[in-house]
Amino acid sequence: MKAKTPPSTSNFVKAAIENDLKSGAFNERRWNGKPGALSEHQNASFDEAKIRTRFPPEPNGYLHIGPAKSIYLNFGLAKEYDGICHLRFDDTNPATEEIEYVDSIRESVKWLGFDWSHHEYFSSDYFDRLYEFAKALIRADLAYVDSLDADQMRLYRGTLTKPGENSPFRNRPKDENLTLFKEMREGKHADGAHALRLKIDMSSPNINLRDPVAYRIKHGSHHRTGSDWSIYPSYDFTHGVSDALENITHSICTLEFEDHRPLYDWLNQKLLELKFLQKPLPRQIEFARLNLSHVILSKRKLIQLVKEKHVEGWNDPRMPTLVGARRRGYSPEGFRLFTDRIGVSKADSWIDYSILEDCMRETLNESSMRKIAVLNPIKLIIENFTPGHTETCHAPNHPQKKELGQRDISLSKELWIEREDFSEDPPKGYFRLFVGNTVRLRYGYVIKCTGFERDKKGTVKTILCEYFPDSKSGSPGADTYKVKGNIHWVDANSSIKANVILYDRLFATEHPGENGNFIDDLNPNSKKTIEIQIERSANKANEGECFQFERHGYFTVDVSSKTESLVFNRTVTLRDNWKK
Ligand code: ATP
Ligand code: MG
Repeated sequence: MKAKTPPSTSNFVKAAIENDLKSGAFNERRWNGKPGALSEHQNASFDEAKIRTRFPPEPNGYLHIGPAKSIYLNFGLAKEYDGICHLRFDDTNPATEEIEYVDSIRESVKWLGFDWSHHEYFSSDYFDRLYEFAKALIRADLAYVDSLDADQMRLYRGTLTKPGENSPFRNRPKDENLTLFKEMREGKHADGAHALRLKIDMSSPNINLRDPVAYRIKHGSHHRTGSDWSIYPSYDFTHGVSDALENITHSICTLEFEDHRPLYDWLNQKLLELKFLQKPLPRQIEFARLNLSHVILSKRKLIQLVKEKHVEGWNDPRMPTLVGARRRGYSPEGFRLFTDRIGVSKADSWIDYSILEDCMRETLNESSMRKIAVLNPIKLIIENFTPGHTETCHAPNHPQKKELGQRDISLSKELWIEREDFSEDPPKGYFRLFVGNTVRLRYGYVIKCTGFERDKKGTVKTILCEYFPDSKSGSPGADTYKVKGNIHWVDANSSIKANVILYDRLFATEHPGENGNFIDDLNPNSKKTIEIQIERSANKANEGECFQFERHGYFTVDVSSKTESLVFNRTVTLRDNWKK
């Protein structure tokens, strides 16, 4: 099984890193005791780290499968090249960020198997420094306070085909800029009244260089700095500078930031010239973001699903969030295999959801113990079996791993089997139970179907059979019986009831929202609860434990099992039911 996992493949990000390591681009020691972002303690490990990457989530929602790719990439590269990966909360927007999200992000990164040790940072810790940098840029005539409102600013910005025009406030005297900026910081102006902009080039073909906004006025409480600030730095003003302050070497981000790279480089270069930063500056490298069929990977839309109660919360097992995936039974190993398999590229593409499911199947097949469960039970009575007698059979816990041993399962006169394993009118090629046919009860005896009974409505209620006492699996006589069908069963006497939630894809269409509102594409059959019969040993199962139910798929004990009876989430079926 392991052999199927390709060795972590080479890609253009690795090629760039290896190039930098060879040329010594990041060898220069940058720490010279000046106040930087890193404390001396944190910096102590800098000399030992060949590269530094970072994973920079904004704490405004739960992590989903998209960022998981970024986590594996950033933490994975750091590991591979003897580096360090920082966990940095990019928290510059007081309106949407919450401590609840910070906690869940930490949990999810740990769950995926990564440890940032003491390298946890917050962009908000740099607010004082960023403010100083902004003032220095004003003094250097590289920034100004603009008083156009948002709509006017958009008009002046121009379009992809039309150059922008200078704002009438662009040449405001430095002193006036400094005074206004200070007043903005002191909360003397309303939201939107002014903004600080970088003075770059309004006629640049790259819109990102047309005097981008560095600071906006935002009154409101920030989850860490409270009401200390009434101005907040923009993403573009914060991100690259935070990278530089933390001595990041390779800043790996998604493709939509490719056009921002000239701005990233411009700002760090200017701050280097102003002696706020030191060389060598970080390098931004972009890769294509993950697009997955049949799911939504936009935080804004995920929030909508939760708020409008289309799902039961962030950890609903149908959600593509990592907390949802975990509850459903998806494994970190499965995500790792998935990221390896899809690789890293420069070209945007869609990955079919079935690839992720296949990766889960492969890893869960390795790690899951087997159990026998009947999902759609119908009674089977062995007419020639002694009433009250119980026979012990043995089922392997993992057919490919003998060392995991076997467990006892009991067999008596009445059993539960799957309704689909009996046919009144068998189609051609049907090898399971029908009157006159012989099958093996897996790990038990060979039986011959002798008849069946109906209830008052005419529905088949009970199947009748006879068993062959010398046919028990593992006994010397077993091999003399040649049967084509092999069905699973549980003992009616000792099996227990449990609930299974059959989850399916949350969206019925491949690209939700492609033809209108994504809500209309929700799959109405994405969740169905059934009552099953499962072998008795399942009563020892723990929350989060995943089993393979033979012939059915992978099932994980749900958190709700703590209080109610045993509940399993169907993690993934044994085979792909969506194959076209
Ligand atoms: P959204 O677009 O849903 O708002 P985001 O990119 O703003 O998501 P962040 O919290 O900023 O979400 O993401 C954290 C990190 O994960 C970022 O570095 C981002 O580039 C990366 N990331 C987010 N979505 C994807 C994706 N689909 N594929 C790869 N990386 C992603
Ligand atoms: Mg983002």
